[in-house]
Amino acid sequence: MSDQVLRVELLDTAREMNAIGINQGTSGNVSVRSGDGFLITPSGLPYDESTPDDMVPMTLDADWSGDRKPSSEWRFHLDIYKARDDVQAVVHVHSTFATTIACLGKEIPAFHYMVAVAGGKTIRCAPYHTFGTQELSDVTVDALVDRKACLLANHGMIATGPNLKKALAMAVEVEKLCEMYWRTLQLGGGPVLDDAEMDIILSKFQSYGQFAKKPANQ
Ligand code: 13P
Ligand code: ZN
Repeated sequence: MSDQVLRVELLDTAREMNAIGINQGTSGNVSVRSGDGFLITPSGLPYDESTPDDMVPMTLDADWSGDRKPSSEWRFHLDIYKARDDVQAVVHVHSTFATTIACLGKEIPAFHYMVAVAGGKTIRCAPYHTFGTQELSDVTVDALVDRKACLLANHGMIATGPNLKKALAMAVEVEKLCEMYWRTLQLGGGPVLDDAEMDIILSKFQSYGQFAKKPANQ
């Protein structure tokens, strides 16, 4: 996809995360791989006042170009791309329910089978570090091992995907799970699915949904 198309899609994604209510103001940030590097939202610039030209190109060596400063969280975006070939887009939001659970320093256990949508039996919560630091980036990459999303203690949530649309959809799914988990906690908590059941769910998710191409014998 051309750099210009990706700039438009990146800004659309950032605007949409605020429009659908999973982020607010200039909190959060989004990036997408482009060529050998990635494009990232600018730091502290309201998304509805930004243009595609304000999106900031960065290399995997942490060089950036253009007139705008990249998001203060460029380190974790960059380190996720370095660690994870499967990730093409990263969405970071301060959504209400994910951030509420993250402020308790809790991971999301297998209270609902859909927790497996993020790739494992739990959705981890990375320990707190100051925003924009290498320390935060390091714990984030660890929390994302074998996962597509994680919480950030006292901060928010990160969701990844093979494209911007799927990374945003993952953020929406995790936020909804966090709301449901919060509600179960309000009522005293419920049973958690055991490892054997989550293994079944994880294997079912390998073939869940439609074929990319219908196999010949179907
Ligand atoms: P930026 O505006 O620099 O992207 O920062 C927002 C944020 O969420 C920091 O964690
Ligand atoms: Zn943040």
